[in-house]
Amino acid sequence: MKQSMTLIPTLREVPADADVKNHQLLLRAGYIRQNASGIYSYLPLAKRVLQKIEAVVREEMDNAGAVELLMPALQQSELWQESGRWSSYGPELMRLHDRHNREFALGATHEEVITSLLRDEIKSYKKLPLTLYQIQTKFRDEKRPRFGLLRGREFIMKDAYSFHSTAESLDETYEKVFTAYSNIFSRCQLNFRAVIADSGAMGGKDTHEFMVLSDIGEDTIAYSNESDYAANIEMAEVLDQYETSSEEEFALEKVETPNQKTIDEVASFLNKNNHQCIKSLLFKVDDEFVLVLVRGDHEINDIKVKNFLNASIVELATPDETKEAIGCEVGYVGPINMKENVKVIADHAVKYMTNAICGANEVGYHYSNVSISRDITISEFADLRFIQIGDPSPDGKGTIQFAKGIEVGHVFKLGTRYSDAMGGNFLDENGRNQAMIMGCYGIGVSRTLAAVAEQFNDENGLVWPKDLAPYDVHLIPVNMKDDTQRELAEALYSDLRSKRFEVLLDDRAERPGVKFADSDLIGLPIRITVGKKASEGIVEVKVRSTGEVHEVSKENLLETIANIMNTIS
Ligand code: ATP
Ligand code: MG
Repeated sequence: MKQSMTLIPTLREVPADADVKNHQLLLRAGYIRQNASGIYSYLPLAKRVLQKIEAVVREEMDNAGAVELLMPALQQSELWQESGRWSSYGPELMRLHDRHNREFALGATHEEVITSLLRDEIKSYKKLPLTLYQIQTKFRDEKRPRFGLLRGREFIMKDAYSFHSTAESLDETYEKVFTAYSNIFSRCQLNFRAVIADSGAMGGKDTHEFMVLSDIGEDTIAYSNESDYAANIEMAEVLDQYETSSEEEFALEKVETPNQKTIDEVASFLNKNNHQCIKSLLFKVDDEFVLVLVRGDHEINDIKVKNFLNASIVELATPDETKEAIGCEVGYVGPINMKENVKVIADHAVKYMTNAICGANEVGYHYSNVSISRDITISEFADLRFIQIGDPSPDGKGTIQFAKGIEVGHVFKLGTRYSDAMGGNFLDENGRNQAMIMGCYGIGVSRTLAAVAEQFNDENGLVWPKDLAPYDVHLIPVNMKDDTQRELAEALYSDLRSKRFEVLLDDRAERPGVKFADSDLIGLPIRITVGKKASEGIVEVKVRSTGEVHEVSKENLLETIANIMNTIS
């Protein structure tokens, strides 16, 4: 491609509204432009990178036995009503009306559409298993679109759905897609980890997220320093492993704690440590009140609370609700003599506390010397807190460390959630009607592009891995007005292209400084400069990732380029 004939609007300045590397560089190097918040145009260079990522995705998905189709982005509300998500999906779903005033949504995801398609087309176990995928634009009205393509409101996703007659068949496909995803992100050269994620009430092993390790990641990964254990912090299990205290138990005492509400305040007022206090928070769980207790130095994990109670909605009670339910102000709430209609559950760690502090359900007072078994009625102990750095790894090997991650992919065993709701049935070998068992698998294609840009750059610009770069070679005649340089550059351009290299020829009448700065920003793997030595048939070859420079004669150029392309990643 001749640069004069394409659109690569580079910028010298860092755009004010872009606060992370990939967003800044994709704007500056002329890959993307924002149309509205979270909505972008992919300019010609980005479009080429997307095509390369998509090609990798297609190859690996096809290898895993999946087959591509394309479903509509415009989806009638009736389907979402059948699944129950028209009301539960919330404001992220973009909704609109057609001219007949019928309601539609712009597809945020396609479980409904594909389930309705297959319930009509699949009647027998003989047609199962079946895995279908598409690469398509998705719409989600994100609360906080940010970081450029990383969290858009319109973005490109590869979504796949598998259908099975048995749970074993789903397990098999899940494994295959898991491997395909590992291959895809490895081929993108990403530094990633597959982590155990939240699957609602279904249990931890049935869903994984593929996380690119990055400081700008919005997710926290808890991983072991000694094994390959890694989980989203929301999910990471905390072992029931605490030291038992040999401390003597004292008599319960009510103490005055005027204006001391937080754990920090109460602990320091009473000259104790946070871990000697019980944190008691009231939650509203599907219209019932539940008091959740954790140790003062721990944080309640509401996802664990939700999963443990098998609830749909778990929310912290408001100060008003707290007052109404237990007649006390937040800050002085405690579990002793709790009302009968309020269930009390506690994190495992609470079991091991002696002579603890807790709220007295009376403004200005706490209890001290609380004995868990003597003074509190706890209906159940469970793992209800967030894991912390230094906790033992749940697999028994090593201790937990934290890292930040960008979720680029997600594999999920859905079970019969959608086929039950929408009548996705088939006849099994014995002629019995059964619900199809489903899996779903997503990759953020445009997010992956941004994640690669975030990982591969230096102070001068982007540094694409060779398999994803929009072109292999940036060919730069220093002075287009010099006939020798121009002619050699044009000859090399057609030589390289005839050997199937993808070449961007900078045929613009720009100053050399501008051309080189743009070239660094754009970040193609190899730059060939045709300058003063053109008359001797010599050009300069520079490797973008290593900075290595070679002077090469035109006769040896093709071989040199081929060798470099073979050695770099
Ligand atoms: P997140 O927690 O980041 O919001 P999600 O759990 O909503 O992600 P899924 O519904 O599993 O995401 O979607 C599949 C994939 O689509 C994700 O793994 C991610 O790579 C991508 N994705 C999701 N939301 C966005 C977005 N707003 N912009 C770009 N990519 C996205
Ligand atoms: Mg989301």
